[in-house]
Formats: sequence, structure tokens, C-alpha cells
Amino acid sequence: MNDQVMQNFLIKRAFLTPDRPAIHFAGITYTFSEAYNRAHTIAGQLAGCGLKKGQYAGALLSNHVDTVFVYLACHLLGVKAVILNNRLTAAEIAWQMKDSQSAFLITESRFSSKYRELEETLPNITIINKEVLFESSVSPPLIVDEINLNEVCTIMYTSGTTGHPKGVLQTYGNHWWSAIGSALNLGLTEEDCWLCTVPLFHISGYSILMRSIIYGMKMVVLESFDEKEAINIIRNEKVTIMSVVSTMLTRMEEKLKEDKLPAQFRCMLLGGGPASKALLEKCQAKQIPVYQTYGMTETSSQIVTLSPEYSFSKLGSAGKALFPSQLKIVRTNGEKASPTEAGEILVKGPNVTKGYLNKKEETKSKIVDGWLSTGDIGYLDEEGFLYVLDRRSDLIISGGENVYPAEIEGILASHPAISDAGVIGLKDEQWGEVPAAFIVKRKEINEVDILQFCQQKLAKYKIPKKVMFIEEIPRNAAKKILRRELRKLLE
Ligand code: ATP
Ligand code: MG
Repeated sequence: MNDQVMQNFLIKRAFLTPDRPAIHFAGITYTFSEAYNRAHTIAGQLAGCGLKKGQYAGALLSNHVDTVFVYLACHLLGVKAVILNNRLTAAEIAWQMKDSQSAFLITESRFSSKYRELEETLPNITIINKEVLFESSVSPPLIVDEINLNEVCTIMYTSGTTGHPKGVLQTYGNHWWSAIGSALNLGLTEEDCWLCTVPLFHISGYSILMRSIIYGMKMVVLESFDEKEAINIIRNEKVTIMSVVSTMLTRMEEKLKEDKLPAQFRCMLLGGGPASKALLEKCQAKQIPVYQTYGMTETSSQIVTLSPEYSFSKLGSAGKALFPSQLKIVRTNGEKASPTEAGEILVKGPNVTKGYLNKKEETKSKIVDGWLSTGDIGYLDEEGFLYVLDRRSDLIISGGENVYPAEIEGILASHPAISDAGVIGLKDEQWGEVPAAFIVKRKEINEVDILQFCQQKLAKYKIPKKVMFIEEIPRNAAKKILRRELRKLLE
């Protein structure tokens, strides 16, 4: 369809606002025209390595301005980047490279032990080290001037929280509509500047890059998250929006003692997983403007976000579906659930993926008539605001009652002596299943104290029947609790 054709996003942006700041990294700010020139040079160097339009290329890169340029070079060449999580083991990377039939891997020296291993297991792959690439000669690249919104831009594997990661096809249109939906909700001003301390290899980070190009907005990239550095850079670079997950926000909230975030800072976009009421209330007290959001790799970032005017009155809600998207809650038989009734969350919209790479059956069963079954449970209140409860696969059914681990974890972690908590179901003769809690202590605390605390806050059937102390809760790169690892610990 011709009407789906647009000019290459980067070319258009560099033409519209060449001198505006695009990216700030390690003390240096690059304009859109500088970003375009860097990406163009890298595109020429990649072309020299044999990369061509339509090919898949793995990208195993750190949070760095070079990574942004490499991703943009892929846009210019029409190469589909398979964005690899850099915490994966060599074996996991090999699996994703094979699954996507990527013939190239663009990477950097800091991952040398991983790619050396890959050289042995996947001898047919061309490994391109960015340090070598950037010194190589520049061939004239075949630049893709126009893109079709239906074309795949990136392949991103899901976090693998529930099992094997799935390769999600993300088109230019998916990214475009995600950026538009976000702007229509959060608004956009000329002063906007988005801080990216989340991984660029995750949709939370990559979507900031897409917004930067589409909006003409400056983004600030940090190599990794550090609460002190984040607070400083918000002040120094006049950041207005930042994307965070719960663990990051907890650390920032603790760091902000008497001092507040500056007035220009207007949105702390909190997503990626459940947020405890306790944390939201603490942020409210410190006037941190938190907006809960719900999204996933399959929706190219946010699909449901709380609007600014409801941030106080609907605390705890992820909001309503963004303008281009839709949302419904269904019962197990597929019927629409009533207001306040919990069921599976289904989403639809132009930001929702066409499907999973090489997974025809799974795509067909998960996306029906454009509606994607998310595997998450939630409910809508009377006014249509979404409350996300937990993943269906982690639901504990105890004596016929539904127990959501995330709720219990939120309560446990609000205890001052507990720094982190994870909850899973434990088989039980009488109740079928009962909750069991893993606790990481901050200060000395025993099981009796914990249970007493829970009795004040939770209904009896939600109180953990077993409490175990561990050193660290297993989490993946997206900082999500790996409850399957906790189940292994229990065995
Ligand atoms: P996999 O699909 O491989 O198990 P994953 O679902 O963790 O991995 P992502 O796409 O990174 O991979 O994460 C999306 C998921 O994160 C959602 O489906 C949901 O379970 C969780 N999530 C996102 N936002 C929220 C939120 N606001 N509240 C609760 N959970 C959320
Ligand atoms: Mg998922």
C-alpha cells in the first residue's frame, strides 16, 4: 500500500531540524544533522562489510551513543536489527541469532568473551566489532530514502520472564504509532528532553530513540542506571521525562531526601512491571510526578498510560488505552468481563506487533482479529481505568481465591527491614496452593515479625505460609522477578 510510505525517519528529521540537539551522551551533545552524518558514515562502513537492505543483523551493544548511531545506520540501510539483550549468555545469543537467521553480528570489544564463543558455535556468522568497523573504509551506501510502515524495523525478543524469549516483529508503523500515542497522551513541548537509563536493547529504551527522531526531541543516554547520576543529569540537562521500572524508582525516591526534582521535570514514566501502592504513595509525598504505564515488547512500548490529570485520583492504575489503541478484559470463555471483574488483558492497535518470528502457530493463537492476548490479568474500574494485577501464569489459586504474587510482594517490600521480596505458589493438600515468600533482608527481621506485619495488611488467604530468606531475588535484565527461578529454589 503506497499510502503507508513515508520518508526515512532519520533523513526527514535531519532535514526538518538539523541543528536541534538530538542525543546527549558522556558530556557531549550531538545535533540531528551530526547524528545523520555519523549514521550515514557507519551505514557506508556496514555496507562495506556486506550488509544490505532486507537482511537481519544481530546487534549486541551497550548503552552508548555509538549504539544509537548503529541502530540509525540500520534504518538508513533498511537492515532489520535483531536487538540482543547484552546480559544474555553466548548460548542464548546463538539461539536468537539462529532463530532470526542473522548472518551478521554487530558488537563491541566489551562483549569479546561472548562473541569469541559464538565464533566457534556459529562459524558462518560475520562478526563486526564496532571499534574495527569505525576505522574501516567507507563504501557508498545504498540508502533507503523511503520506508513502508509495514516493513519490519527491529526484532526484539521478549524478556523471557515466563519462558523462552519470543522474537517480536516490530515494524516502522508499530514504532511510529507508539510514539504518536505517547505524545497525544503526555503532550509534547519544545523543552522536552527524555532521559534513557533503561537498556537501549529493551523496548523501553529503543522507543525513546524512536520518539527522539519522530518528535525532534533531545534524549540523554546513560550507560547504566545510577540514582545519583540520574538526579544530577535531570538537573544539568533539564530533563523533563524519564522512563523507569519500580526498582529504579525506589532507589531514586530514597536518594531524594529533602531536595525535590526540578520544576521542569514533568513525567516519571513507570512501567515494565507491577508498582506497589506504598512506592506510589511515597513518590506522591515527594512530589515525584509518576505516571504508571503498561506495555510490552509486543506493543512497541506503552499501550496504556495514565493521563496527567488522573495521576492522583487514580493512583495505582495504569490508565486508559492510548488514542490509537484499544483494550478489553475477557473471561476464560472469551466473553467481556464486567467492570471490576478480573480477566485477561487483550490489546489491539497499530502499535501491536504482526506476530512472532518463525512462530506461526503461536502468532495465530495469540493474535485473533488484531486482538493480542497478553497473558496478563487485570480489571477495569467503572470508569474504564486499567489495573494490572499479575501474569496469568503466576496466579496462585488458594482455596478458590485468586492470589496475585505482585500484591504480596508490594506489601512485603514496603517493610523497612525488607529490601526485596518474591512470592510464588506452593502446592498444598488443603488449599491447592498457598503463597510462599522469599525475602531479602535490609535489617534484622524474623518470620514472626513478617507474618505479623502481613496480618495487618493482607487478607488471611494471602499471607505467606512459608517464609524463606535469601541473598538476592533472581531478576532478569529488565529487573523483573524470575519466579520460575524461585520455584527451582523451592524444589
Ligand atoms: P516474556 O513474554 O518472554 O515472558 P516479558 O513479558 O517479561 O517476557 P516484556 O515484553 O519486556 O517481556 O514485558 C512485558 C510484561 O511486563 C507485560 O506483559 C506485563 O506482564 C509486565 N508489565 C508491564 N507493565 C506493567 C504494569 N504497569 N503493571 C504490571 N505489569 C506490567
Ligand atoms: Mg510477555
